[in-house]
Amino acid sequence: MLLFPFFHLPLIFLLIPLLLYFLPALLARHKSDFTSIFLLNLFLGWTFIGWVIALVWALSAEPQPRPAAAPQSAAGPSQPARPGGPASAPGFFCSSCGKPFAPGARFCSSCGAPT
Ligand SMILES: [Zn+2]
Repeated sequence: MLLFPFFHLPLIFLLIPLLLYFLPALLARHKSDFTSIFLLNLFLGWTFIGWVIALVWALSAEPQPRPAAAPQSAAGPSQPARPGGPASAPGFFCSSCGKPFAPGARFCSSCGAPT
């Protein structure tokens, strides 16, 4: 009994220290450098300094996107179309016959007048 005192405790008393030990890895489970944080947590977490470093790393490695700010930037397809499409640009109509010609063309394709 003295050698295995945890056998007489509920499972939650075993899980709480385990969760506390791997808290940095749990916090960093969605980060891109989760593997590094997890390895640091696993091998150096038993030293208090290594655990604190892993925890700070897990909290500050990447700025987590806040769910409240994400829907504001995505306005969706309801945005109005920008005024002035490429077809309504000025200066692409023949001064003689008034018909539009391609940009960069040197002569009007309808009447042959130079642009
Ligand atoms: Zn023309």
